[in-house]
Amino acid sequence: RTGSVDRSTQGSTNNLNSDEDNINVVVRVRPVNDKELSLRERNMLEFPGKGQIICHGTASGQKPKLFSYNVVFEPAATQEDVLEYSGIKRLLEMAVEGFSCTAFCYGQTGSGKTHTLTGPPGLVESGASPHSPEHGLVVRSFVYLFQLIRDRPDCHFILKASFLEIYNEKVIDLLNPGSSRKPLQVRWSKESRSFYVENLFTVDCEQLDDLFAVLEEGMRNRSVGAHAMNAHSSRSHSLLSVRVRRDVRARDVACSTLGKINFVDLAGSELTKRTHSTGKTLEEANNINRSLMVLGYCIAQLSDGKKKGHIPYRDSKLTKLLADSLSGNGVTLMIACIAPTKSNLSETINTLRYAARAKKIKSKPIVKMDARDALILSLKREVEVLQAENDHL
Ligand code: ADP
Ligand code: MG
Repeated sequence: RTGSVDRSTQGSTNNLNSDEDNINVVVRVRPVNDKELSLRERNMLEFPGKGQIICHGTASGQKPKLFSYNVVFEPAATQEDVLEYSGIKRLLEMAVEGFSCTAFCYGQTGSGKTHTLTGPPGLVESGASPHSPEHGLVVRSFVYLFQLIRDRPDCHFILKASFLEIYNEKVIDLLNPGSSRKPLQVRWSKESRSFYVENLFTVDCEQLDDLFAVLEEGMRNRSVGAHAMNAHSSRSHSLLSVRVRRDVRARDVACSTLGKINFVDLAGSELTKRTHSTGKTLEEANNINRSLMVLGYCIAQLSDGKKKGHIPYRDSKLTKLLADSLSGNGVTLMIACIAPTKSNLSETINTLRYAARAKKIKSKPIVKMDARDALILSLKREVEVLQAENDHL
């Protein structure tokens, strides 16, 4: 029998507990940089307790404000700490078990998003050893993913990776940059009931080195683009995706799960404010950064507990591609990146508020899945999307 539900996850430590949400929000504070040091900029943040940040100078009366999150990484935190305590390991375990998971970094330009995901500039492109202590979350996650796979010799795994960039609502394949003159289309797949990128290059990754090669190639192509266009990398989103197919064979029962882990390095969050301040509507915002704005709307509406049918996933390329992990079929990790000093204060407060709002999202993820459950779920999802489309008209 194929397509039966996989019950092997039940009772395991990485199964969902009732107190675990499908969005985990952590904050990472980067260290004060040399420029800020030389200017003797004031440090605006304090860390009074676990998961807490006090931000000074937030209101006109300069009253300090307390924010709390699942985890706060102080400036001294290492890349290894982020792997261990951000909750990413749980996402990877869940991706292996058939969930759609996303880790994204949000924050202003220069706040440490790229550092957190892929380490200091040029590290990955230089082909540094996978064991370099400077590597970010992506390389560390790859290593952990292969560890998880080795732990399941009873299963057969197929991993496929892709790496794209969204710039100005155009999808560019970072593994096939020659295609960049012709942006790729995002389409709805009836079969998998999710959005996909047509003609996107995907690489079969049998070994850890194959995943590294994908990352390296994509990063190299991304920095070429960044060089060609001023401020390109702060205005574009990159999305590295690893799909995990697992075939389990136990006695005469065969069962497959299809999971996914996305790593998203978002455009600088200062762009959303710029959009608002010019008084542009969502429709007009196309050329500035629609994806970032729509992600904000989706998060706001999900956290409002509004009806799912009204969440505008369809309004941007990025939210289409993240819809399955945001909508409750998966788990999302938001890493809010901030700088500690005074000159960054207003963006820091925006990011802390955005992160606080994301933390309110509650829904329980669903594993893929028994054939009948799968059908019910997919019909529900189709209704959601049609409803969203209808609202949009
Ligand atoms: P963003 O991607 O958000 O624009 P970057 O990741 O490029 O920001 O970070 C800006 C600079 O600060 C980079 O030179 C980066 O290496 C450095 N940096 C950021 N976070 C850290 C950190 N936690 N530790 C050391 N250096 C950091
Ligand atoms: Mg960056």
